[in-house]
Amino acid sequence: MKIIVVGAGIVGVSCAIWLQRDGHDVTLLDRNGPASGTSHGNAGVLAAGAVIPVTTPGIAARAPKMLLDRNAPLFLRWSYLPKLVPFLAKYLRFGTDAHVDHYATSMSALLHDTVDQHQRLAENTPAAAYISDDDYCFGYATEAEFRADAYSWQKRKAAGYTFDVHDGASFDPAFGPAFHTVVACHNHGRISDPGAYVAALAKHFVDQGGTLQLCEVQDIQMADNIITGLDTSDGPMQADHIVFAMGPWSKNIAHKLGVKVPFESERGYHLEFINPSVMPKSPMMVASGKFVLTPMDGRLRAAGVVEFGGLDSGPSRPPFEFLYRQVRKLLPDMTYDNVVEWMGHRPAPADSLPLIGANDPLGKSYSAFGHQHVGLTGGAKTGRIIADLIGDKKPNIDLAPFDPIKHSAR
Ligand SMILES: Cc1cc2nc3c(=O)[nH]c(=O)nc-3n(C[C@H](O)[C@H](O)[C@H](O)COP(=O)(O)OP(=O)(O)OC[C@H]3O[C@@H](n4cnc5c(N)ncnc54)[C@H](O)[C@@H]3O)c2cc1C
Repeated sequence: MKIIVVGAGIVGVSCAIWLQRDGHDVTLLDRNGPASGTSHGNAGVLAAGAVIPVTTPGIAARAPKMLLDRNAPLFLRWSYLPKLVPFLAKYLRFGTDAHVDHYATSMSALLHDTVDQHQRLAENTPAAAYISDDDYCFGYATEAEFRADAYSWQKRKAAGYTFDVHDGASFDPAFGPAFHTVVACHNHGRISDPGAYVAALAKHFVDQGGTLQLCEVQDIQMADNIITGLDTSDGPMQADHIVFAMGPWSKNIAHKLGVKVPFESERGYHLEFINPSVMPKSPMMVASGKFVLTPMDGRLRAAGVVEFGGLDSGPSRPPFEFLYRQVRKLLPDMTYDNVVEWMGHRPAPADSLPLIGANDPLGKSYSAFGHQHVGLTGGAKTGRIIADLIGDKKPNIDLAPFDPIKHSAR
């Protein structure tokens, strides 16, 4: 069949490769090229156990205090607040224990085997060199901070994840005495250069005969509530099936398709220290700052925090300044050649559950977006699931929590 995949981030590239492996004629469209969106700048963690959403119980009370504290990892562009309110009202309603359990069960099925899924996606390609097995660590500056996170650790344990609790002072010499406690999660992984990894996968897709076309999807054509084609900057296009994997830019087209999911960008930031004098042994989530320090090829990346401010405005200074302060505090003696600053958009549905599946009863078009903080982790498997659905093979996972049609009803 002829299949168009829109969006060449980790999710779209994985969809394209698995569909190609199933023998389809696949065209991958992106307005700026592979890994030009969020998949370029993330923290590179294959976070198998990241099964706790941002919206945990008590978030509605915590969030306003965090917004007023310059040393808290939550930011808002205040001018964006009026546009944000309808989303926020829905988002905060998911901060319940029942939703955390539902999310953990659903996402565990998508994320638990992430390293294996990435190894299969990249098998026999140059992209495989970017993948490694790694622990994913969480560093707490004080015992009180660690205790305050007890809820998340109980939930991870209940979901079947294993971890060890270490004395922070002796865990990794890179951090000296900065941490009181470090929790090391096993069977996780790391991508040593997320942008180069996705670009290498896209190159493999092209080398195997796939078409990569740089153009923008501007609109869709519909008849009887079912998509019939795309309007693009290269003209109209048609296919037997169309997969939408436009990450944070998915909302408008999804809504036109009838997938009316409440959806926002959770903006995130990174600082990259080039040729640093210090390199941690594994990715370290700095718990108080909600950012990860990840060793990468020739550089140390500090990536994370959340800012609400929409898709259209450029980066803000306070999140960068926050990251600079945090890194200086943790690694006061680190030297480096220079710093690269980056801001990107996490694609976030209000219930934090990605949309994976058919948008209409005939399966003419598919959604594959909304992976918020864990799109690198879940992207490889999502591509495989989409290829299975289009190929009428039943994926070995409960897809009901990700069903685009059911999402719209929430
Ligand atoms: C600071 C930060 C740290 C993160 N750390 C991690 C991590 O450690 N582990 C993890 O698993 N996840 C992490 N994430 C989340 C992860 O990066 C995202 O969930 C993931 O990259 C989303 O991938 P995607 O393919 O859905 O979207 P994207 O990578 O954004 O790709 C979407 C593509 O669609 C294209 N596009 C959009 N609109 C159109 C259009 N109209 N026409 C044509 N093309 C279009 C864009 O150009 C883009 O290339 C992090 C995110 C941030 C911001």
